[in-house]
This record gives sequence, structure tokens and C-alpha cells, in this order.
Amino acid sequence: MRSVREDLTRFERSLIYLPSMSISFLALQNLSKSFSKTAVLKNLHLEINQGEFTTLLGPSGCGKTTTLRLIAGLEALDEGKIFLGAKEIQNLPAEKRPVNTVFQHYALFPHLSVKENVAFGLRLKGISENSTEKKVMEMLSLVGMESLNSRMPSQLSGGQQQRVALARALVMEPQVLLLDEPMAALDVQLRRQMQNELKSIQRRLGLTCILVTHDQEEAMRLSDRIAIMHHGRLLQIGNARNLYEEPANRFCANFMGRANLLPVKVLEAETHPSLLLDGHKIRAPKMRAVSEGELVTLFLRPEHVRILSPGLRSCDNEIDASVKQVSFQGESLRIYVTVNAEVEIEVSLSGSDTIRNFNPGDEVRLGWNVEQSRILFD
Ligand code: ATP
Repeated sequence: MRSVREDLTRFERSLIYLPSMSISFLALQNLSKSFSKTAVLKNLHLEINQGEFTTLLGPSGCGKTTTLRLIAGLEALDEGKIFLGAKEIQNLPAEKRPVNTVFQHYALFPHLSVKENVAFGLRLKGISENSTEKKVMEMLSLVGMESLNSRMPSQLSGGQQQRVALARALVMEPQVLLLDEPMAALDVQLRRQMQNELKSIQRRLGLTCILVTHDQEEAMRLSDRIAIMHHGRLLQIGNARNLYEEPANRFCANFMGRANLLPVKVLEAETHPSLLLDGHKIRAPKMRAVSEGELVTLFLRPEHVRILSPGLRSCDNEIDASVKQVSFQGESLRIYVTVNAEVEIEVSLSGSDTIRNFNPGDEVRLGWNVEQSRILFD
């Protein structure tokens, strides 16, 4: 059986080089959509580059799937425009849009074999039998399913069915591949494997992909850029590192990784920025226009807070705290400390620090450096 790791096939090369199949830039302009007067998308604006892997990430019900369905033409827009290249596509029927979707539930035709499932769309398009056969086998080879081509869907595992669903979408040579939680039904190990294979295929073909997921790890592993959505709006878009290090607001900070979001009061905003954290004066990162006395949020990742050993105190900010709870996570040791009853801080120790022993009630000294903290305003 050939795998995706083998050399590019002729078919793959044709996907990349044929001008008629060149991959387009996709622009969603101010999309709005309501269901029974409930606004599900509110002026969503998103531009996707050719060959880019973009993920829509957000909690359940925030409008990710609706966005994908609007692009696919499976729902009608209330307002807005969708451009693929220079062409406006929002009024085209679904079957005329050069996009294909892979769904969470593979949606294979149960009465057709693997090969027939993949061939289905090409037959509808009236592609010749010879050409269909060749393209189908090349696609099945790309997803590592060539040798199982005569099986029925019921004789395949979930992972194998999802590969067939992927081959069925790819064989239509979409300009944009839409992926609606395609790995959600797979177990963790298989999901990782499929994620790697999907990424490898996407890179090799230079495909423009939009993935919908609420799995932050999956988004970080696969995406060139991640768009964080909440309540039908796009809150922030960027690569994984940007989003992790520079969240736009509290919601984004919490949604990408773990975050300490501490209530603080601005003491001095300009020359020597400082804050009041639960009665402790601490040094602050640079702040955009704020006024003295303003209440803001100090954002600090748990891995940037240290528990200082006596005699090794070298952080910009140091405060005393008391250990409340300790949780060993294998690769990290998570410690929850309280500064007082109001303020709780999560600390994550990794590497050789995970062997350090802490117990509830221990008095510790926390430290962090100013450049690793941020001020958030909402
Ligand atoms: P999930 O991660 O759970 O799939 P999502 O972010 O993809 O969520 P959508 O499926 O886009 O969310 O749904 C957004 C909102 O729109 C939800 O409140 C959902 O109940 C509602 N909705 C979606 N489709 C319809 C429909 N056809 N009729 C009525 N309401 C709908």
C-alpha cells in the first residue's frame, strides 16, 4: 500500500501546476446570518490566503459550522459577500462552488464501495470512465486506501472511512477544502495520525483549507492562522504563537491555553508603570492610554510564574503566597496558590522542576518578569 509520504504522483503535480486549478484567495465580507431572528453571525470579516490552512476555533454554538456552510452554499446569507478570487460566489448554488466539505460524520454512501464513493462526484460531472478510474486510484493512494478500494463503508474503521471521505473531497480538485471537525469522532491516537497526514497532504498539494474545531491543540498543530470566534464574531486572528503570546482580550487568553487573569489597579501608567495587585505594588508592562486608578486585567501564563528558591530571587516582581492545591500532570506540575482569599494564581512547573515537592499550606515566594505579562482591557 502506498502512503502519503511517498513522492508526488502525477495527479498531485497536476493539482499544483494546472492554471485552471490554481488556488484562490477567499474573502468573507461582513457576513451576517440569523436563524429565527437569533443572530448567529454578526458582520464576520475574514480573508484567507491561497494555500493557507486556517482554523475557525471557538466554543460550541459560536457560529463556526454556519460560516463553513455559508461558504459551501449549504445556507443562504442574510448579508455580506463571499469572494473566491475575483468572483463573487454567494449567489451560486452549492454544486457550482469550487469547494468541497469533509464532515465529522463521514457521510459515505453505504451501498457504494470505497472506489465508487470516491468516483461518485466525477461521474456526476460526466468525467470519462478511464480518467475517473485513474483519478480515484491516485486519490486513494494519497490517503493510503488503495488496497481497500473494493470494501464497503461498513467494513472500514472510523479512521479509514474518514480517509475515504477526504479522498472523495480531494478528487473533485476543490479550490478550497472545508473541514468540519473531521477528526472529532476518532480516538486520540488516530486523531493525531490523521492530523499529521492531513497536514502533509495539504502542504504537498498547496491546498487552501478551512478547518472548524473547538480543539485548541488541533488548531495549533494544523493551522497557519487561527481565527478565534465567540458569539458569532471574529475576536482575533493570527498564528498560534501570536494568539498565545498576545491575546486580544480575556476570552482569547483563556481559550488558547491556560491563563492567569488577575484584577489590578493602575498606580502609574507612564514613566515607571506600576499596578496594585491585592495590596502589592508590582511593576507593569507598557500600557496604552490608561489612567491612574483604572481597573484592568493582568495576564500571565502559568509557565511564566516561578516559585523562587530562597537566595535565588531575581524576578522583576515577587510576592508571597500560600499553596492551595498541587496537581501532577506528568510533563508539568500544576500548583494553585493564593495571594489572599481573593486572588488565586496558577503556576506550571516543567522539566526538572516537576520533582520539587509542594504541599497545601506551604508558604512560597512567586516571581515573574514584566515582559512576560500583559495588560488586557476587556
Ligand atoms: P459546534 O462546535 O457545537 O458545532 P458551532 O460553533 O459550529 O458549534 P453552529 O453550528 O454554527 O455553531 O451554530 C451556531 C448557532 O446557530 C447555534 O446556536 C445553533 O443552535 C444555531 N443554528 C445552527 N443551524 C441552525 C438551523 N438550521 N436552525 C436554527 N438554528 C441553527
